[in-house]
Amino acid sequence: MLFEGVNNTILFSVISFFYIVFLAVLFATKNKIDSLELKLYKYLIGINIVSLIMECSLILFLPIGGFVLSFVLKVFDMCLFSYVFTIAIYLYTVIHSINKINAHSLKFKIIIIYAIISAVLFLLLPVEINDVDYMQYSYGPNVLFLFASISVLIMIMLYEIIGHLNSVKSKKSIPIIALIILMSINAVVQFIWPHFLLANSIISFVTFLMYNTIENPDVKMIEQLEEAKTQAEKANRAKSDFLSSMSHEIRTPLNAIVGLSEDIGTYKDQVPPEVKEDSEDIINASQTLLEIVGNILDISKIESDKMEITEIPYNFREDAITLAKINAVRIGEKPINFKYHIAEDIPYELLGDKTHVKQILNNLLSNAIKYTNEGEVNFNVNCINQNGVCELVIIVQDTGIGIKADKINHLFTKFDRLDVERNTTVEGTGLGLAITKQLIEMMGGKINVQSQFGQGSMFMVNLPQKISKMTGPEMPERVGFERTMQMPKVDPTQPLQKQVIALTQPVVNAPPKVEGVPTVGEYGAKRILLADDNPLNIKVAKRALKDFNFIIDEAKDGNEAIEKVKANKYDLILMDIMMPNKNGEEAFKELKTDPNFNIPTIALTADAIAGACEHYKEVGFNDYLAKPFTRDQIKEKLDVLFK
Ligand code: ADP
Repeated sequence: MLFEGVNNTILFSVISFFYIVFLAVLFATKNKIDSLELKLYKYLIGINIVSLIMECSLILFLPIGGFVLSFVLKVFDMCLFSYVFTIAIYLYTVIHSINKINAHSLKFKIIIIYAIISAVLFLLLPVEINDVDYMQYSYGPNVLFLFASISVLIMIMLYEIIGHLNSVKSKKSIPIIALIILMSINAVVQFIWPHFLLANSIISFVTFLMYNTIENPDVKMIEQLEEAKTQAEKANRAKSDFLSSMSHEIRTPLNAIVGLSEDIGTYKDQVPPEVKEDSEDIINASQTLLEIVGNILDISKIESDKMEITEIPYNFREDAITLAKINAVRIGEKPINFKYHIAEDIPYELLGDKTHVKQILNNLLSNAIKYTNEGEVNFNVNCINQNGVCELVIIVQDTGIGIKADKINHLFTKFDRLDVERNTTVEGTGLGLAITKQLIEMMGGKINVQSQFGQGSMFMVNLPQKISKMTGPEMPERVGFERTMQMPKVDPTQPLQKQVIALTQPVVNAPPKVEGVPTVGEYGAKRILLADDNPLNIKVAKRALKDFNFIIDEAKDGNEAIEKVKANKYDLILMDIMMPNKNGEEAFKELKTDPNFNIPTIALTADAIAGACEHYKEVGFNDYLAKPFTRDQIKEKLDVLFK
């Protein structure tokens, strides 16, 4: 007859053995992160397997008895102790959020010494075997030592849990509490029926619980990934905020640099030609810098979901032609034949985000010109009008440096400039196309590119825009909108900006002025209040407004602005936000308390950070304009208000 007592529980152990081995294989095949918790769990699985092997092997060794049997029993006891001991360490690391063991610390050395002494004691202390009345079980000093050691460990664990209730994450504590309860029950069971060997099944159950609750590597990976994602998002937000505030700081002084350099250009014959030339260079450099700062602000807006796509009626053809001409000037001395064709069936007025549509066209055109040294640049716009929507098909094609096939995928990645070695002479940040693509997609369109390295590139954009007005005033030379640009002579004595404006006038080959399209000064004799505490800013703002023939009053803080509004009749207020005594927002809110107050007010601020626009509109301002604003930017706002 085989040994009854062992037989009673051995089945549990055999099943546990297979299950834990299966679990171990599963655990080993998972991608694991490097963590102390997982290392400890690995030890637990190992100890669990050895103790199960020991218990199962009792069937073989019980009949043999003697030294081998007592050795197996001692190792078995040692395993049970090691398991509970490792769980105690695990609990300690969880409670105290320890991720790495410091092998040189005193605590670690004490723990190791304690473990070694216990192991030696387990091997030395004798174990007795009861084999009477078919009741096989071990007893004696070894077993007593096991009971005592486990009891001490359980006491320590209970003490730690009670002392740090908040630090024990409920999920992580489940297996430990299960172990404590089951081990206590086991102690009672063993006391009454010493031949019931439940300990191994208990620790196997705890190993299983741990796998499914806390130590599952997948769960750990997801936790870590989520943590990493949160950290990355936080860092990205911090970066965007930093970029925004930096850009804002840069824009303010640039405002003065551009404005005052332009001013030098107006003193035609009174300054030496070198000074005028230098001032033109300053304007060009500052404008490039402004463009870069603008791009950074755009990217930060897009990334924080603060970019808004607005809808205003605008004349696409007129804007596209103006942009073609502005970009033609950028060709400079390069032997490039620039052609454009803007289809005549494009509706007279579209409803869309004029500023951003222009930004898209400008990015593509300026790139084509930047990255082409000779040959051709073609700008074509056709359209499909259907169900009140005009699908613009924009093609910008060049015979420039082209893009390598393996680089095409990087084209729309921000800050990615391809072939930097070849591009060293070309200014850029690698932001333009990233912004362009995002804007196009936000408007429901798409962009495609075809390119052959060394031969040229073709960018194709499909952009749906609602139709506002199909026809407008007759345009006499509508049929003649396809043309080859006669490269205008660049007058080096004139600032570039001035010449671009001149080019948009109805001169040789340019379409005649379309009636109804506002011209300089066309808003009439309006009276405007300009509130800003900085005289330099006032000077620059007045310059941007000077073509409109407005009567401009000034106020240097919120209080003065309120006084002036009460004393005079204004058609528009341009209100700076950051002013001493009373800031622009407070002053505006105070003015709004008067039910008769109905003067359009534009918040004028260097606060170009993402989200500012919505805020000022919520407060009740009619619009928002980031400083430094250009003549064209203010004109766009004036068109909406006064047209
Ligand atoms: P930037 O021009 O400021 O560097 P973009 O985002 O506009 O940034 O363009 C990213 C990169 O794509 C450029 O650096 C350039 O290498 C390449 N690229 C863009 N347009 C063209 C083009 N028309 N021909 C050749 N390469 C181009």
